[in-house]
Amino acid sequence: GERAHLVAVLCDCQDLDEGCDRLLTCRSLPPGMLERIADTVSDRFRIPWFTGAVKVNVSLIPPLVLLPVFLHVAALHFLLAFVILTSLPIVVLWYYYLTHRRKEQTLFFLSLGLFSLGYMYYVFLREVVPQGHVHHAQVALLTCGLVLMLVALSRAKRDPGYLPSCTSNDKSPCQGSTELLSRKVLGIANGLQGAAGPGVPSSRVVNGDTKGYSRTPAEGSAEAKEDWCPKCQVVQPARAGHCRLCGRCVRRLDHHCVWINSCVGEQNHQAFILVLSFFLLTAVYGIMLTLNTICRGQAIFLALFYCPGVYSDYSSALLFTCVWYCTIVTSGMGYILLIQLLNISYNVTEREARMALRDNTGRRLLGGLVVDTGQYNRGFLCNWGQFLSLGSPAPLRSAEDVV
Ligand SMILES: [Zn+2]
Ligand SMILES: [Zn+2]
Repeated sequence: GERAHLVAVLCDCQDLDEGCDRLLTCRSLPPGMLERIADTVSDRFRIPWFTGAVKVNVSLIPPLVLLPVFLHVAALHFLLAFVILTSLPIVVLWYYYLTHRRKEQTLFFLSLGLFSLGYMYYVFLREVVPQGHVHHAQVALLTCGLVLMLVALSRAKRDPGYLPSCTSNDKSPCQGSTELLSRKVLGIANGLQGAAGPGVPSSRVVNGDTKGYSRTPAEGSAEAKEDWCPKCQVVQPARAGHCRLCGRCVRRLDHHCVWINSCVGEQNHQAFILVLSFFLLTAVYGIMLTLNTICRGQAIFLALFYCPGVYSDYSSALLFTCVWYCTIVTSGMGYILLIQLLNISYNVTEREARMALRDNTGRRLLGGLVVDTGQYNRGFLCNWGQFLSLGSPAPLRSAEDVV
């Protein structure tokens, strides 16, 4: 009866028993049964540990098993590689839209990204380096790029700039944060306390004060209601947004990134750009070194499409498959980085671009790659200056960011 160990996965699950019965007697499953079985299995998927069984997030597992299997099968034949490498992005995109529709967080993409990196590095060390065409300095440079990317990733995984929430299921009360307290004091000192007027619930008064706003939703203005997050019970500053996956409001929300399983906001946007940049540089360098080893004497770009005899030996076929896998992933990341750099140059966030397109208030530029809302765009240099000062302790931001 204890839900403590892996061995309990198949015990005492009435849904599983009934599901098997129905399967054997060719009867259909009642709705929701498969989900309940999946929930039970994922709940009991625990590893015995000294301090008590540790629950393992099931979404971590598929990449660890599927990626090596797919890559090894793809190395068997050119056509298998073609089918697997074209279907892989489709499956990942399908899973992405599924999780987005369900509005749930998943570690699948982070696990896939990190495991892909680790696995590619392992294959590089095991198959490319022993062939002797790569210098120690080149291996060291590649390792350095990988380490820098991981350091940037750990920074990007920190607080994206969550607004303190006052909802009942939040463990930390909103007055707990020192920032809020100081802002509240500031608000009272500025005489904003009375601005909410009588009849306004006290929590709203507190929230109104904490942001230094004189207006609250109770004032009835449509604009004020737009700034109010009913889920977090806070007044959002300009450019902040509510993330449905994290269930929190984030300052200067750009988007929720499934690859880092976190929002990209005011505090971690710079680190996010660094992660993408280091990833691209390292991946391109790794691809070049590998192609240089398996297609001696060929030009790098040509070798990607024409590498004679690469499938005659399993090791070089596996390396060629890995190169193409990296190329597909790198192209996707390169596109994301390009969009991000353009967005920063026009001082627009992903969220603002999406809303501007929805409301028909922005104009598409550069063939639709970027949407200029014109709201915060102060010229290329100013926009980059503002981006580089994001998250600094003494923000010198323009007035429209505050008002
Ligand atoms: Zn919110
Ligand atoms: Zn989020």
